[in-house]
Amino acid sequence: MSATGMPLAELPIAPSWTGDETLYSWCCRWHRLTLYSTRVSGLALFGVPSAAKVRIAPNPFGHFSTVTKGLLGSPADIVRRRTAVGSFLAMARNTDRHRIEAGALNPAHVLSEKTGIALRLRYCSGCVKRHQNLWGMAIWRVPHQLPGAVICLDHGRPLIELVEQRQLWSLPDNGTVREIDVASRSEIRSLSVAAEAAVCIFESGGLEVEELRERAQSVVSEAYGVLDAKRLDPERVDSDWQGSPLSQWCKRVFPDSNAFPPMWITNVLRSRRSERSPLRWAFLVAYFEERSWSSAKVFFSGDRDLSSHQLSFWGDAADVPSLILHACTRSANANQAAKIIGVTPGTVRDWVRINAALAGATSHWTVRR
Ligand SMILES: [Zn+2]
Repeated sequence: MSATGMPLAELPIAPSWTGDETLYSWCCRWHRLTLYSTRVSGLALFGVPSAAKVRIAPNPFGHFSTVTKGLLGSPADIVRRRTAVGSFLAMARNTDRHRIEAGALNPAHVLSEKTGIALRLRYCSGCVKRHQNLWGMAIWRVPHQLPGAVICLDHGRPLIELVEQRQLWSLPDNGTVREIDVASRSEIRSLSVAAEAAVCIFESGGLEVEELRERAQSVVSEAYGVLDAKRLDPERVDSDWQGSPLSQWCKRVFPDSNAFPPMWITNVLRSRRSERSPLRWAFLVAYFEERSWSSAKVFFSGDRDLSSHQLSFWGDAADVPSLILHACTRSANANQAAKIIGVTPGTVRDWVRINAALAGATSHWTVRR
C-alpha cells in the first residue's frame, strides 16, 4: 500500500537486516525511513493496518514475503530466526513446526503466553548506547526478546522493558519503560544462566522435548538420590525450588505470574503431556545450574553421562544433596546408605571416593571402601 492507498507490488526500499534485530525492529526502521503513518506501514508490510500491535511476531507470510521479494530470507527463516516464535517452534510438535514453517498455521498458535510471563519488548541500555554509536539508532535484539531472557549477556545487566502497549512502530528510544528488578548477585547469576538457556533453545532449531524430559528426570533423580522420577517426593522438590533465588525473584517481580505453579518441576518430569514452554525449560535448566546439578551447556549438549558431570559439581557439603548426606551419616556402611538412597552400593562408594564432604560424613563407616 502506498501513501496514497494504492497497493504495492514491492516496497520502495527494503534495507537489509541490522545486527541480530527482530522482524519487528526491521519494520520500525522501515517505518521511520518511509515516514508513513503506523496504519499505512502496517498495510504496506503485512496487508493489515493493525500489524504494529503484534510486536512479538508480526505474521510475515504471504504479503510480507511478496512485497520484500524474498530479499530478507524465506518466511520460515524469518519466523525462526527473527522472532521470539523461534523459541516456541524449537519446542513445538513436529507437525506444528512444519505447518508454521510452510505458512499453513499462524505462528501465534504455538505462543503459550498463558503459561508464562508476558512477553514485552526488551532492550539493554548498554546495547542501545553501542548501537547508537555504531548505526545512529538502537534496534530490538532477538536475544533480549526470548522467553526467559531478563539479563543482557553482553553487558551482564538487567534488561529494560516497554510497559505501555501502544500500537506503534517504535525503536527502543521511545515509550514508557522500567528496568526489570534484579536485586542481588545471585539473582544476576541465575538469571544469566536462564538467558543462556533461552538462547540455546532458540538456536537449537528444534529440540526433542521427550529427550529433554528424560535428561531432566535423570538430573533430578540423581540429585535426590532416587532411582527414577516416580520415587521423587514432590513436596520436597517443590519446597527446595520455593527457597531458591530464581523462585524468590519470580515471586517478587512477577507475583501474579502462573509460570511456576506449586509442584511444577515434578509435573514437568512426570506429566503425560509434554512441557513445551521455552520459559519453563530455560528456568528449569537455570535452576539445575543454580543447584550445581548440571550446567546448562552440558544439559543441552545431550551428554547422557550426566552423573559424572554432576559429581564434579559437589564441591562441598553444602552442595551435596542433603538426602544423600543424611543417608550416609546415619548408615554404618555403603550397603545401608545405598538402600536408603535407592542406588547401588558401588555408586555410593564412587561418590564417597570423589567427594571430600561425603568422605568426612562416612568416616564412621566400618568398611569404608
Ligand atoms: Zn547489552
